[in-house]
Amino acid sequence: MGRREEFREAMAGGRILLADGAWGTELQKLGLDTGDCPEAWNVDRPDEIRKLTRAYAEAGADLLMTNTFGGNRFRLRALEHHGKVAAYNRAGAAIAREVADAHGKWVAASVGPTGELIEPRGLASRRQMYEAFREQLEALKAGGVDAVMVETMSDPEEMRVAAQAAKDLELYCFATMTFNPGPDGYRTYTGVTVAEAAQALNECAADAAGTNCGTGLADMIHVVRQMRPLTRKPLLVQANAGLPQTVNGKLVYGDKPAHMAALLPDLIAAGAQVVGGCCGTTPEHVKAFRAVADALNAQRGPSA
Ligand SMILES: [Zn+2]
Repeated sequence: MGRREEFREAMAGGRILLADGAWGTELQKLGLDTGDCPEAWNVDRPDEIRKLTRAYAEAGADLLMTNTFGGNRFRLRALEHHGKVAAYNRAGAAIAREVADAHGKWVAASVGPTGELIEPRGLASRRQMYEAFREQLEALKAGGVDAVMVETMSDPEEMRVAAQAAKDLELYCFATMTFNPGPDGYRTYTGVTVAEAAQALNECAADAAGTNCGTGLADMIHVVRQMRPLTRKPLLVQANAGLPQTVNGKLVYGDKPAHMAALLPDLIAAGAQVVGGCCGTTPEHVKAFRAVADALNAQRGPSA
C-alpha cells in the first residue's frame, strides 16, 4: 500500500491523529519579519525549516505540515517573489517529505488563502483562483505530499475552489475555516456563520472539514459541537494558543501546553478526529497533545 492510501485508511479507521503546531509564529522567533516571505525560507534557509519540522516529528505529530501556507501566485507576487510558486512549494514539500520518511510520518501540504476575493466581491475570477491553487498543488504533489490542508479560509467560495483543485489532483484534502468569536456568535471575517461554513464544507470536494486559527481550543469545542451534526466528514481542529495579547507591540499567545491538552478530551468527544495547533503553539504543545491522544486511542482499543 502506498503512503497516500495508507493515510486514507488511517483516517477511515477513526484513530485520533495529530497534526503539528504553528509555523508563522515559530518562524518569527527565528527572525522572520513582517513583510518577509516565509516560503522563501524553503530555498534560502532550508536548515531552519528542516529543524522545525523535525521538532514537530519528535514531539509526536503524525502529520507534518509544509511551510507553504502563502505559496500561491497572488501572495508571492504581493511579496515580490513573482514566479517562485513551483520552486518554493516543491522545496517545502521535499523538506517535509525527507523528515517524514526519517520518522515514519505523513506530510500534509499547507495551502492558505490567496488574499483575493472571487468576483463580484473581489477582482479574481473563479478560473484565476483555480489556476493559482492548481499551480501550487501540482508543485506540492511533485514534492511528495500525502494530503492537503486548505486552511484559514474565510470565504466558502475560495475554499471550494481550492478543495476542488486538490481533488482533481487526487490528493486527500482537509478544508478548514477560521472563525472569530463576536456578539452574534462565531463568524469568519467575511461574516459567514459556523452553520453556513459547515454546509459549504460538507458539500465541497474536500474529504475532511474543520476549523483552524482565529481562536483558542475552548472556543473550538463550541464550533465543533455546531459543525458535527451538519457534516459526516471527519473534523480537523487546529487551535491557536488562546487569543493574543499585545505585549511591547508584539502579539503574544498565552495558552500553555498543559492547559490546551487538558481540553483535548472534550474536543474529541465533540467530534474532532485530527488535532493540531495554529498560531502560538509549539512542539511542546504537540508533545502534550501526544500523551492525551495516545491515552484516548488506547481506550478505544486496537481496532480504532
Ligand atoms: Zn493561526
